[in-house]
Amino acid sequence: MGPVSADAINRYLKQTRELFGDELFLDKPQASLKEDPQQMNPDFPSDLNNFYKQIHQCHNCALGDSRTEFVFGVGDPEASLVLVGEAPGEKEDLKGEPFVGRAGQLLDKILAAINRSRQKDVYICNVLKCRPPSNRDPLADEVSECEPYLIHQINLIQPKLIVALGRVAGKTLLNVDKPLKSMRGILHDYHGTPLIVTYHPAALLRNPNWKPETWKDFKWIRSIIDA
Ligand code: SF4
Repeated sequence: MGPVSADAINRYLKQTRELFGDELFLDKPQASLKEDPQQMNPDFPSDLNNFYKQIHQCHNCALGDSRTEFVFGVGDPEASLVLVGEAPGEKEDLKGEPFVGRAGQLLDKILAAINRSRQKDVYICNVLKCRPPSNRDPLADEVSECEPYLIHQINLIQPKLIVALGRVAGKTLLNVDKPLKSMRGILHDYHGTPLIVTYHPAALLRNPNWKPETWKDFKWIRSIIDA
């Protein structure tokens, strides 16, 4: 990661103190996208449209044979905020767009509450671009084939913040096997970009009691991307 300004450090400390008092949680940083030449794949194009054209017929794992539609991602190519789910579900697979259906509508309402939308300052995608059968969790070999695409997308967008939606997206991106509550409330690092883990909107539909905690997370998210 490059040099960090004193203002940025002060903002970070103020935000974490508001949330957690005097306890400070730090992750070991992963290699920055800019500093790790392997992450900066020179075979990938330097804009999202051409990147989509290059990979939308991918068959690097078995999910390429079972998908209906490839789900690349949608949103503002210069977004401050990138939201990442685990993989397309049934409706996403049919439509070719991430987070559609009731969970997507709830996500749109949450974004509106922080004065954003999927067209305005937000980009939405998944770790996997193709639907796993019966919505099972992504397999390790699928992640290892597909994650370089996500890393390149994030590298092109250069957001201020990544938000992993749900436990599976969080543990996959952080490469840990932890429950969601152990990953929430911590400013993690994903190849040089700050990352927060919060509830998946589908989980909020099943458990509305988690909405206040999610709103707390999104107020924190707003404070970071507005800074
Ligand atoms: S899940 Fe990713 S690696 Fe697998 S076929 Fe789809 S785009 Fe390719």
